[in-house]
Amino acid sequence: MDTIAISLNGTPVSGRPGMTILELAREVGIHIPTLCDDQFLKPVGACRICLVEEEKSGRLLASCVTPIAAGMTINTRSRAVIENRKIIVKLMLASHPESCLLCEKGNRCRLRKLAGDLGIGRLDYYPVPNFTGTQELNPFIMRDLSKCILCGKCIRADHELVVVGALDYLNRGFDSSPATLFDGPLETSECTFCGTCVSMCPTGALFERGKPHAGTIGARTATICSYCGCGCNIFLETVENRLISVSPNPANDINGKTLCVRGHYGHDYVHHPDRLRRPLIRKDGVLCEVGWDEALDFAAEGLKNAYSRYGSGAVSFLGSSKCSNEENYLFQKIARTIFGTNNIDTLGRLHSGTSLESIPFDAMTNSLQDIEDSDVILVIGSNPPTSHPVAGYRIKRAHLKGAKIIVVDPRRTGLAGFSAVWVPIRPGTDEILLNGILKGLLDSKSLDEKVKAEIAEELPEVIDSLAGFVPQLVEEFTGCSQPLLEAVVRLISEARSPAFVYGHGITRQINGTQAIRAIENLALLKAGPGESCGGIYPLDKESNTQGAWDMGTLPNLLPGYLPLDDPDAIRFFENAWKTSIPTKPGLSAAEAIRRARAGEVKAMYIMGENPLRSFLDPSEAEKGLSTLDFLVVQDLFLTETAQFAHVVFPACSFAEKDGTFTNIEGRVQRIRKAIEPVGQSLPDYEILCRIARRMGYPADYRSAGEIMDEISYLTPLYRDISYGKLEKGGIFRPCSRSISDGEKRLPVRRRAAKITPAEQGHLRVSHKRPEDGDFILLKGSTLYHFLGGTRSTRSARLLEMEQEGLLEMNPMDAGALGLRDGDMIKLHNDKNQVVTRIKLSESLPRGILFSPLFDRLTTFLAPLGVRATGTDVCRVRIEKEICNGPHEPPGEN
Ligand code: SF4
Repeated sequence: MDTIAISLNGTPVSGRPGMTILELAREVGIHIPTLCDDQFLKPVGACRICLVEEEKSGRLLASCVTPIAAGMTINTRSRAVIENRKIIVKLMLASHPESCLLCEKGNRCRLRKLAGDLGIGRLDYYPVPNFTGTQELNPFIMRDLSKCILCGKCIRADHELVVVGALDYLNRGFDSSPATLFDGPLETSECTFCGTCVSMCPTGALFERGKPHAGTIGARTATICSYCGCGCNIFLETVENRLISVSPNPANDINGKTLCVRGHYGHDYVHHPDRLRRPLIRKDGVLCEVGWDEALDFAAEGLKNAYSRYGSGAVSFLGSSKCSNEENYLFQKIARTIFGTNNIDTLGRLHSGTSLESIPFDAMTNSLQDIEDSDVILVIGSNPPTSHPVAGYRIKRAHLKGAKIIVVDPRRTGLAGFSAVWVPIRPGTDEILLNGILKGLLDSKSLDEKVKAEIAEELPEVIDSLAGFVPQLVEEFTGCSQPLLEAVVRLISEARSPAFVYGHGITRQINGTQAIRAIENLALLKAGPGESCGGIYPLDKESNTQGAWDMGTLPNLLPGYLPLDDPDAIRFFENAWKTSIPTKPGLSAAEAIRRARAGEVKAMYIMGENPLRSFLDPSEAEKGLSTLDFLVVQDLFLTETAQFAHVVFPACSFAEKDGTFTNIEGRVQRIRKAIEPVGQSLPDYEILCRIARRMGYPADYRSAGEIMDEISYLTPLYRDISYGKLEKGGIFRPCSRSISDGEKRLPVRRRAAKITPAEQGHLRVSHKRPEDGDFILLKGSTLYHFLGGTRSTRSARLLEMEQEGLLEMNPMDAGALGLRDGDMIKLHNDKNQVVTRIKLSESLPRGILFSPLFDRLTTFLAPLGVRATGTDVCRVRIEKEICNGPHEPPGEN
């Protein structure tokens, strides 16, 4: 490659064409101070602090925006440079309030540091007061624009990184400031309170509201966000064993300097007063605080009794998408070795389990970063900006780079505003649409003729299976007009590397597996997965759903997805665990709860899950759990589920323990202990070890790291992973980038090998049009509450923004029923009825309602037909009940 030679402070150096002086200086270890520059933002040369002198011409140049040119003679610390830097900083200080002693930014203020570095002891300029006062009512971010130095980082972060557009410059010259539209408060703007602007701000102009400690931080611990499966890297900032704030840890390629509102401001649940501090056991029907020994003895006795009286099939285990890999590994090991049962599952199966049967390991085929370089992105059944916001930023950034976005969703989600095509399909008909697109693609002229011939010759059954998915049928069932379908087919067929993103809108459907197979077929037809961009991106998981599955917290698979009917795998684990293990597949979470209700499952051990909030049919879960002889729950809070337990163990949060999470990409990352356990709580793995020892099984791990060593030894997927290696950063498991073809792991380019015939089960009840008066109820995550909200509803700040789960309704539907925004209505289906408040939303088409998943009331309106994975669409009817009373608890019809 060509290089460009220049002189830097008298030393000859060379750089690559296109490099700026600042980049080259950094590369060779020369420090140039900056204020407006950031590695994640495009340089703009706004602050001029980085100026350097070109000695031949005597010109002063902003080094962040000036490319190197052959023969340049650059001096980064000449007299002229230093004097001009001082003048610039003094001008900034002249309009800056002298409130450093009280400023929240404290010692981290870059302006103050720069003034100190330059030796500006006295300000000999006339001060220009610029008092604006602090603003905002929102619970997260405060603005004191009198401290703003107009570096524009907040605006650029908003435009370039999170692509929201809430901020821009207002006015010109001295009156210029970053502001929202019409200078309104942040809370009435498009702002999503991700806090990226706060992380970027070099002064105290933007700062976090409501921190329990305003002074210097005691320690920063690098760990992983505990909410969604993106697995963002964060620092937990602590003082005296208290979590004070969270900031992005930019040394990663998942989130860089961005986070979302949950990750940035929603971890205050760690110190919620409701945290369990001591173990509880039920005495005379009441849960009473006891010591650890008494609780552990009681739990071990109760579990042993159920096992010895009713056998291994009568005990069931529910692991957790929120607990670490080490904890899930240990949990399934206890179930299989001590209780001889494969009755082990997580609730992740109910929300994402349909894809377990499709993409191997259900991880993404590519890294999150690759979405950004895809040229066409189909987003179906997913609303990434609210469910997995950091993935949403990537999709929007791809749009900025010219990618065409196709959004398939009954709701006009925020992402639809960025789309080239929005397909508002009828709920539950995604599979038909996807197969229609597949057929369109196979029929299209722009698809590679060689690929078509290959499929026609090798896989005629695929062609046959798609024969029925003609545009007329697709339109009839899905509501996607033929021109719209043609537009989607055209975009995908012309794409170089299309990305396919799906989420709970697909994975929670009863026919989710078929829809995902159609997505795989589409991706394989375009040969995208595994390449440097494009691919398949399931956005359907919590912080460690992927890891819990990898660890074998599944009723039919051992750690590393080894099947129970593989005698070699069984022998291998039996040798390692020194005991026999059952080979008969166990009960899924849904089946276990159903069997509990039927009196067949007598005891259950639930670690870190709350089925009474997160189960697809919580009333069914309540009936099941209330009939158990014995229920053990370990959790952070006395959850709705824990209230039914006979023993409740107080467990540590992610901030109080070591371990690993595996994110949606399949990247294994360290979580680290930042504070001591709250009360007498213990890490889940420690509780499990104590229980196992009471059951006579040696579980003498001295640390979570020792459990990982065992995992790494026994699980091919995690081979060679150790805490030592993870210190250097997250590790991708090698298999997450390929698609399996049964026996062999195939290079993904062998496309025809995996394309499977479409299933013809599209004429299902779920695809019926709603009858008059019927509504279809959609449920999903919101920006402030992820899934059931067990933790986010204990974040005071998140709750302040979204306290109540409001039922969204199309204004025309509301008008037809004589309803107004905020009215209470009675909603019922064949199972339950609830009274709830409505919010009018133009984003919904007529006949469709939307309720947040964290709303405990509407979760009681489960559809009929909850299966091991997924449900049918939920049909409800509305009874007008205009009143202003509080929410009423659900009642059976
Ligand atoms: Fe946490 Fe997910 Fe938000 Fe990242 S995108 S900060 S992982 S909730």
